[in-house]
Amino acid sequence: MVKKLNEDVRVGKPAIKRSPHWDTVRKEHLKNNSVCAACGKTNGLQVHHIRPFHLFPELELDLGNLITLCEVFVNNDDSGDDNHHLRLGHGGDFHKNNTKVLDDVKRYRVDKAKLTVLEGYDMVALKKIL
Ligand SMILES: [Zn+2]
Repeated sequence: MVKKLNEDVRVGKPAIKRSPHWDTVRKEHLKNNSVCAACGKTNGLQVHHIRPFHLFPELELDLGNLITLCEVFVNNDDSGDDNHHLRLGHGGDFHKNNTKVLDDVKRYRVDKAKLTVLEGYDMVALKKIL
């Protein structure tokens, strides 16, 4: 089962105080990037730091270091299909950080597009059979 992001998961990280401007920057980023970069969902969005905030505090407010990823717990299993923040942003573990998040988001989108095409072909084939 996927651990929900909560206080427990964050324990152990160095306590670095957020900039007083973080909330403003976060909202500005979400205004311009209002869907999950991987799947296009518009709910449960998280603003993820590509280079982690606790290691690169100087990049906390850098718009180029931010990516919007969904964090929705719908399937309630460990597939991570409904949680791109966990799956792509953190490689399945909130204690880790995926340094290749941008590549993985691109790969996910390409794979999803291929799958959609394949499903389209399957539907055509299915209609011919029926
Ligand atoms: Zn997503």
